[in-house]
Amino acid sequence: MNEQRPARATAAHIDLAALANNLGVVRAALDRAGNRSAIIATVKADAYGHGAVRSAQTLVEAGADALGVALVDEGAELRTHGISGRIIQYGGAFSMRHDLVVQNRLEPFVFRREDLEALDTAARTAGTQVDVHVKVDTGMGRIGLLPEDVSAFFDALAGFSALRMVGLCSHFANADLKDGAMTQAQEDRLAAVAALARSRGFNPTVHLANSAAILLRPTAHLDAVRPGIMLYGVVPARHLAQHGADLRPVLSWTTEIIHVKQVGTGTPISYGSRWIAERPSVIATLPVGYADGYARNLFGHARVLVRGQRAPVVGTICMDMCMIDVTDISAAAVGDEVVLLGAQGSERIDAEQLAEWSGTISYEVLCRIGKRVPRR
Ligand SMILES: *Cc1c(COP(=O)(O)O)cnc(C)c1O
Repeated sequence: MNEQRPARATAAHIDLAALANNLGVVRAALDRAGNRSAIIATVKADAYGHGAVRSAQTLVEAGADALGVALVDEGAELRTHGISGRIIQYGGAFSMRHDLVVQNRLEPFVFRREDLEALDTAARTAGTQVDVHVKVDTGMGRIGLLPEDVSAFFDALAGFSALRMVGLCSHFANADLKDGAMTQAQEDRLAAVAALARSRGFNPTVHLANSAAILLRPTAHLDAVRPGIMLYGVVPARHLAQHGADLRPVLSWTTEIIHVKQVGTGTPISYGSRWIAERPSVIATLPVGYADGYARNLFGHARVLVRGQRAPVVGTICMDMCMIDVTDISAAAVGDEVVLLGAQGSERIDAEQLAEWSGTISYEVLCRIGKRVPRR
């Protein structure tokens, strides 16, 4: 057996075939709409917790035209592992290391004149050019130029000989909402800016759509799309389930029972004695806790799967462990596989379910699965 194998059974299993399938679902959505948009596969935040390098390799092999990261460091990690294709950097944060953008051949989103100057200097020092994507804030209120400032920015950009505008983009704030008025307004604002760019002789790839817009808004597909969550087999919001019917979940998260005990009525379990047995009970202990990303606020809501049945998490979730009530699951024993996220038998716990129990969204559930949980 592999000597690197950790002693603890807690692990996240990554189904790379499902990841490739989901890229195909993106392509099919574009095809159905008659759009030939390029696909920028978003692998920021360690590919939403799935492992950036293997995910990126799989997505490129499956036909992604480019990769998207948030941070310069994330792009550098992909380069270190031999990924040589286009990498677009969404996050806008590189104030101190413009040289790393150049060194790693990243294509950053730009929207501040100071960054243009620093990138131009870094590129000329290295004897090369930097391809940039001009980011416009059409309603997200996060990063980007306001539409009225774009014209002057284009003028500035034209003055930097080592910079080339290859992209023009924006990001939706509400693409998952049923009421699309705001989303339509954002689309219209970007279209106006794109027309201005063309009238100035620029010919950028225009891109806007995240997963929700890929599924819901063919008019927003434009020259390229930037799917994230749907690549990982999760729809951006529960009400989009039927739009993402062909998506396959990529990640499952399992652990095992390491201890089982019988306790009498009135026995308190875990910190704060917040759960007390109301009947003679069988309690099992799992080696997973909030330090692994199994959030403390799941207590009182969460279920796990044991022997194909649902068992409630009981007692405060600890840093490294938590307890479950297996009184109604006869024969539950040390060594049994326990599913925290994923399928077992005919039961399934999906990322949206875990998110609802934890008062958050599926994106956060996936990203917060901790570093010490090995990805297999
Ligand atoms: C994260 C991100 C995406 C992907 O969004 P999903 O909702 O996961 O599809 C696209 N564009 C930008 C700028 C992002 O930050």
